[in-house]
Amino acid sequence: DKKIADGEKKAKLSSGDKFLSSDEILRLRNVSRQKYMKNREKKKVDEFQDQIEDEIMLNDGVKMTEKEVIEFRYKKKLYELLKKTEDDDVEGYRIPDAYDQEGCIDQKKRFAVATERYCERRSGRGVTEQEAWEDHQARKARVRFGANDKKGVVDGYEFVFDDLKGLLEESIEAETGKHRSCYSKTVAEKARKEREFLPIHGYREELLKLIEENQVLVIVGETGSGKTTQIPQYLQEAGYTKRGKIGCTQPRRVAAMSVASRVAQEVGVKLGHEVGYSIRFEDCTSEKTVVKYMTDGMLLRELLTEPKLDSYSVIIIDEAHERTLSTDILFALVKDVAKVRPDLRLIISSATLEAKKFSEYFDSARIYLIPGRRYPVEKLFRKSPEPDYLETVIRTVVQIHQNEPIGDILVFLTGQEEIETVETNLKQRMMDLGTKGSEIIICPIYSNLPTELQAKVFEPAPKGSRKVVLATNIAETSLTIDGIRYVIDPGYCKINSYNPRTGMESLLVSPISKASAEQRAGRSGRTGPGKCFRLYNIKDLEPTTIPEIQRANLASVVLTLKSLGIQDVFNFDFMDPPPANVLLKALELLYALGALDENGEITKVGERMVEFPVYPMLSKMIVGSEKYKCSKEIITVAAMLSVGNSIFYRPKNKQVLADTARMKFYEGTENVGDHIALLRVYNEWKETNYTTQWCYDNYIQSKSMKRARDIRDQLLGLLNKIGIELTSNPNDLDAIKKAILAGFFPHSAKLQKNGSYRRVKEPQTVYVHPNSGLFGVSPSKWLVYHELVLTTKEYMRHTTEMKPEWLIEIAPHYYELKD
Ligand code: ADP
Ligand code: MG
Repeated sequence: DKKIADGEKKAKLSSGDKFLSSDEILRLRNVSRQKYMKNREKKKVDEFQDQIEDEIMLNDGVKMTEKEVIEFRYKKKLYELLKKTEDDDVEGYRIPDAYDQEGCIDQKKRFAVATERYCERRSGRGVTEQEAWEDHQARKARVRFGANDKKGVVDGYEFVFDDLKGLLEESIEAETGKHRSCYSKTVAEKARKEREFLPIHGYREELLKLIEENQVLVIVGETGSGKTTQIPQYLQEAGYTKRGKIGCTQPRRVAAMSVASRVAQEVGVKLGHEVGYSIRFEDCTSEKTVVKYMTDGMLLRELLTEPKLDSYSVIIIDEAHERTLSTDILFALVKDVAKVRPDLRLIISSATLEAKKFSEYFDSARIYLIPGRRYPVEKLFRKSPEPDYLETVIRTVVQIHQNEPIGDILVFLTGQEEIETVETNLKQRMMDLGTKGSEIIICPIYSNLPTELQAKVFEPAPKGSRKVVLATNIAETSLTIDGIRYVIDPGYCKINSYNPRTGMESLLVSPISKASAEQRAGRSGRTGPGKCFRLYNIKDLEPTTIPEIQRANLASVVLTLKSLGIQDVFNFDFMDPPPANVLLKALELLYALGALDENGEITKVGERMVEFPVYPMLSKMIVGSEKYKCSKEIITVAAMLSVGNSIFYRPKNKQVLADTARMKFYEGTENVGDHIALLRVYNEWKETNYTTQWCYDNYIQSKSMKRARDIRDQLLGLLNKIGIELTSNPNDLDAIKKAILAGFFPHSAKLQKNGSYRRVKEPQTVYVHPNSGLFGVSPSKWLVYHELVLTTKEYMRHTTEMKPEWLIEIAPHYYELKD
């Protein structure tokens, strides 16, 4: 009851002339808008006009009608309320001590070991695959955990809805701290019904009207209000798909897939038919597809073949606030397309109030705000950051599970590795703590998670249990997971950073911005009042994140722009221009690869390279293989490299066996390198007719191999398309290595006296990655590597021996003979 009173107090924040009670807010949210407006006392228009003139959502010089003003005022109140709850005073919280009381030495030791292992992996000394694999196997396991006995309470809250009214009431009940599950018979039926209860629902007609009247519209709405899933459906229902497809971009693969599958469910069609998605190397669309979700990078690629996007009637650039590299480039390109295609509709959708910038960029486009539902969120924080935040995360989960009312927990972690560490350790901790009491269900979500497991995160936790979602930044705004009441935010995310001097790109764990922190906290207040545990002090954060375009390698982007006929990349219409030296570096690399000529114009080679949806060095390797008559082998190598780092695995109890199996692929005097080993893995697998058994016997992950096969098939198709003959000379390893070097010659390194390597053209010391087959064996004097990764050292990942004279032969413009 105290909580309700507090919630109410917070809700009664002044907004303008009147206080809004929590009841009133709920009413505002649930009662239809028209009805609400009729009941509102009507004040004089001018009075309001003055009051709100400086607000961001007002387009300059537009006089609003009385209706608009009243509506505006309503929205404003909700937003002010939203802001106020964000700035609420917060109190510090203590690290839960339950563990200390109950823990014994052994548990502490165990955790210490786990932490050490984690640190080892971070520093690159350990191997992640085998643990990843084991965790995959163990993932479905549920963990029972002895929390305080809250059975009576839980029983009291249980309720199963079977009608719509119940669904509507859920949000009201949620406010009072009650938790109800609302699952009816079929998921699809439920999904369809739920559409009507999304905040966006009441604005359907108005939105459609605005889209009709405005070529470009900026839409701002709280995460979970229904922008991504509903707007394309509204447009389809309104007949836009008669003129062309509706394309909706997402910065993340998982989001594109998951949202498409949800919408297919709501519409009641099979995924890939009317509703589909397209991500790199995976096209789940068909002739029938009219609503297409795709990564922003994919739309960028589509522009290469369809410069005016003729097959689309509407383009939605979703999650615009994320400002990913591809989204930023798309802004400029679709802006141009819109000028030559007056029939095209462009929607820029964002979860944050940055809308003014978008509007200005799109020639003062209209901004439309969708008020979301947001409940007060109590924010607790640590005055100073935690040195071992993963341990704190685990303790906090335990504390919440033991002491807080029912509701799911969302934890923000930086990536797969952290998620797996926390998952393993949390399970262990739970098992150690006992077996009675309510259950906890751990659901990881990150971009490499197999699709089957991704869906699990949306399934409600069974009665009496609590779901703990361990997510990357994807859950910040891209995906909405219902039922979250508690957010644990360590305050970090992985961001891409690029050093133009060394040409090295790395994903670094960095503090999030204030804007992100607010978004994360907001995830807990979607269906009822929430709590956010911040393991840091918000005062230490920067207000916003730097857009990716200002901290990324631009080689791919520049090649794409050149291919689109954009000559002057320095004066391209960037929303925020990238640093000039980064553009310069990209131009230099593309010139060295032969993709651009001395005038900066795209060459024949460049045009062929751009066909492949991979980094320019990799595409140059593929294109270059023609000369060395080994294109068949090279596309295999390229496919295997594109899969990433998950080919081999080492189960904990069979590490020696796994290592022995692995080294088999490195046998032979000529084969000194990871690239050739990858090629052999693929070819041997192929000889067994792609069997899973072979993978199993050889400690190879069959899922990764299947993916490699898919990617290879696509590369093969593209090879045909650009007219490169499929040639093969499996015994000439030198030819294969030369083809690799044709793309990767800038990535050459020479052995130093102390056993480390030095990049040939850059004054940089680098090391062989511990995951490489060349690690710890007698070193080769010269190496070519696929990429550099930075952990504690700068490691070369995927390395192969080469001869220095090849550098002169292949890249005479880049290297010259010294002695
Ligand atoms: P927005 O784009 O405004 O953030 P969405 O359209 O993504 O909102 O989400 C609207 C609703 O759809 C949310 O309640 C969310 O939980 C639900 N939803 C979205 N994707 C899925 C999914 N894959 N499975 C289940 N529910 C989903
Ligand atoms: Mg969305």
